[in-house]
Amino acid sequence: MTEADRTRRAAMVDTLRHNGIHNRLVLEAMATVPRERFVDPAWADEAYDDQPLPIGSGQTISVPWIVARMTAALELSGTENVLEVGTGSGYAAAVLAQCCRRVTTIERHQGLAEQARRRLSELNYSTVEVRDGDGARGAPDRAPFDAISVTAMAESLPQPLLDQLTPHGTLVCPVGQGGLGDLVRLRNGHRETLSSVGFVPLVTDEDSP
Ligand code: SAH
Repeated sequence: MTEADRTRRAAMVDTLRHNGIHNRLVLEAMATVPRERFVDPAWADEAYDDQPLPIGSGQTISVPWIVARMTAALELSGTENVLEVGTGSGYAAAVLAQCCRRVTTIERHQGLAEQARRRLSELNYSTVEVRDGDGARGAPDRAPFDAISVTAMAESLPQPLLDQLTPHGTLVCPVGQGGLGDLVRLRNGHRETLSSVGFVPLVTDEDSP
């Protein structure tokens, strides 16, 4: 990690605070996780900018603000069993790992899953398990989950994920079509819309017979 990365990361956290993120665990996690290690080295200088960056397989690492917003929306205390759908670079999984007890994260692109697994292991994120496959099916053997974060846009909340959430659990998921929609939070069985968001689509096994 370079001094420039440290300075950029501190500036990113200041910007998040300025933009309404006040969750202590999330701010601490984002002040610690080396985001530059989750992007292609060619993009390392842009790693802390508020823009999505390509990570291969036509996918992107989410902008810092959305990672912060979604993680904060889960209101984690440090003890939770969490599921993430859409590992991508593995960055959000690392942030989650610093805010809860255990993370299971699922990625449908095997190459991305492998890359994320390697990065997370190099950085000693030993509480994160990266799986490949269709995350819309969840991880029944690790359920129930206290919190679930879906980082790709679903047309509707996937039923298997609802089934694998504890009764008082919290799920956040972008819901919409064509890449634009609402960030939906389900908490204690109550559904609310947090904001408008843009995301790559959640591609489930049902999409490709
Ligand atoms: N959380 C990521 C960003 C995710 S981008 C990060 O921090 O970098 C969304 C990811 O969801 C993409 O990598 C895409 O391949 C993956 N994805 C889409 N549909 C999926 C599905 N059904 N199961 C698992 N992963 C899926």
